[in-house]
Amino acid sequence: MTNEKSFKDDRFLSGSLALDLVNTEMIVRGKKQDLFTSPDDLAQWWQVACAYHPEHENIVGDGTPFVWTTELLEEVKAFRQSLRLLCTGLVEDPLITSPDLTMLNQMLALGYQLAQVTPQGTIMAIYRVYDEQKGRILLPIALSALRLLTEGERSRLHKCKNDRCILFFYDTSKGGSRQWCSLGCLNRARSIYHYRQQRSTGSHPL
Ligand SMILES: [Zn+2]
Repeated sequence: MTNEKSFKDDRFLSGSLALDLVNTEMIVRGKKQDLFTSPDDLAQWWQVACAYHPEHENIVGDGTPFVWTTELLEEVKAFRQSLRLLCTGLVEDPLITSPDLTMLNQMLALGYQLAQVTPQGTIMAIYRVYDEQKGRILLPIALSALRLLTEGERSRLHKCKNDRCILFFYDTSKGGSRQWCSLGCLNRARSIYHYRQQRSTGSHPL
């Protein structure tokens, strides 16, 4: 187990597997930090991500165990960057640039859907992938992004209101009034605000 402390629960609060991937890059003490410094980090993140998103599609592989290579890590990082750009563009209101879906579509082409009969006789939808290594991680993320973009409301996709934070989330709250990626971020932003207020009141006494 590496970097266990980095994988805190609040890394999985975005409401979407695809956004949780985007959120593996964050600002910590003013500096950009990448949770993925090695394939091992990715392996561990994936394990936790699957626990947080048990709803993700049924991808049936041939049982080959994952091999967490640097190549796979780089593919995931490239997809993450593409999703970040996509989300950054989508939170602009009005939409300034036309969304670039090239990489998302490449990832969606990693597998295909088919129908399968369960031992109980029910027919269920499953996915198979052409590449057991890449497909089993990149396809579920791509499908999550597809759901977010096609079934979600764009007005509910947000970047955290904290200027120092780069995390995204999908607001599932009833009133649609969530503004922060996490409670921690809200509290940090509040204390900065109070600190600035105190300073400005201090320097300009009424
Ligand atoms: Zn935040």
